[in-house]
Amino acid sequence: MKKIIITLDGYSSCGKSTLARQLANELNYVFIDSGAMYRAITLYFLRQHIDWNDETAIHKALGEITLDFQNNELTGQSDMYLNDENVEALIRDMLVSEHVSEVSALKEVREFGVAQQQKMGEKKGIVMDGRDIGTTVFPNAELKIFVTADPAIRVERRFKELFQKNPNITIEEIKNNLEMRDYMDSNREFSPLRRAEDAIDLDNSNLTREEQLALALEWANKRMQ
Ligand code: C5P
Repeated sequence: MKKIIITLDGYSSCGKSTLARQLANELNYVFIDSGAMYRAITLYFLRQHIDWNDETAIHKALGEITLDFQNNELTGQSDMYLNDENVEALIRDMLVSEHVSEVSALKEVREFGVAQQQKMGEKKGIVMDGRDIGTTVFPNAELKIFVTADPAIRVERRFKELFQKNPNITIEEIKNNLEMRDYMDSNREFSPLRRAEDAIDLDNSNLTREEQLALALEWANKRMQ
């Protein structure tokens, strides 16, 4: 069977990363959460008080950033590292979620992210999830999936996930954040969130994790023949 590239794009909190991780496990492929990369860049910018309107400061900051994923032996998942520091938990913080769409819309940030993601896919055998993976990062990917889910279900899923770490979080806060990010991600100038014309739609509102994995595996197996 040939090695392929699988892309999963869609709005925030549709379960893209969960499905991408499961698919990669089943196929013994590399899983890349491209959102984690933009979150790590945002964390760095916040820590260094970078002014997003200052192109020189952005350029300099990006030159100081090294991103990589390393396997976490406890969880069996790959964690995001920013300059050799494990930032997997920090990048899920609400403060990062509030600013990531502004940072990821910056032209130079996009060029930085896309170039690294394309390099990661050179050998194929990769599942990557994000917003522009099937359109900009890997326009020739063999399998593109556009994941959707009912907005109320997305808010509920995200709430359950974040409430465990932060019991003060409210449904309203999460709803506002998802709406704001979806709007900004879809309306930015450089590689906005779009469904690739040749993508397969997967609405997982009423599917279990096992059901959506079975569907995606069926599509992947066909493309790998
Ligand atoms: O996937 P996740 O929700 O963690 O992504 C966080 C943010 O990173 C998104 O809201 C979006 O602003 C940005 N992102 C992006 N392009 C990608 C992946 C994520 O702009 N390919």
